[in-house]
Amino acid sequence: MNEIILASNNKNKLLEFRQIFSSKKIISLMDINFNNEIEETGSTLEQNALIKVREVFNYSKKICVSDDSGLEIDYLNGEPGVYSARYAGNNANSIDNIKKVLNNLGETKNRKARFRTIIAYKDSSTEKLFEGLINGRISNSIRGKGGFGYDPIFIPENYDITFSEMSLEQKNKISHRSLAIKKLFKFFCAK
Ligand code: IMP
Repeated sequence: MNEIILASNNKNKLLEFRQIFSSKKIISLMDINFNNEIEETGSTLEQNALIKVREVFNYSKKICVSDDSGLEIDYLNGEPGVYSARYAGNNANSIDNIKKVLNNLGETKNRKARFRTIIAYKDSSTEKLFEGLINGRISNSIRGKGGFGYDPIFIPENYDITFSEMSLEQKNKISHRSLAIKKLFKFFCAK
């Protein structure tokens, strides 16, 4: 079976999966005419990834993967975590979310954080989760123009620049999402 459904229509995610899974056909929700709004009601990344992959598998009956990511900040007890996309409210944009993080951190020196991705895999007999994470810290201000989400304030461990200040290639080599996708790829290779 060479076709895998990624439970998303996000172009960047599809590209990132396709780059690593060059020998498989990664198709999107649009490709299978799945138009339902999946409610991510879980309280963890793991729960949300499973909610998505189960719903899409039940619809398609084909091998599916889904992913859910978030930024976890120690000083904020793991926030924004599973609520990363809507930390400053349902209609908030990335800058609103970033400002809320920087405000909540204030002048604290404890700025440790990590990005974490959970990928859920489902076929007719198996469900599996794969985790990718990257440790780092939150900068004192917004830095850089590239990327999306919290990239302008996340400085990965062993670097002095934010994800936004890196090229996309550089970020994708070390990112939480690419680590999780590589684990999933290894699983496929061993199957
Ligand atoms: P998703 O589960 O991949 O849609 O990610 C949820 C939210 O986490 C996004 O809307 C972003 O706010 C944040 N996020 C996830 N991955 C990244 C990243 O690589 N850089 C910056 N923010 C991210």
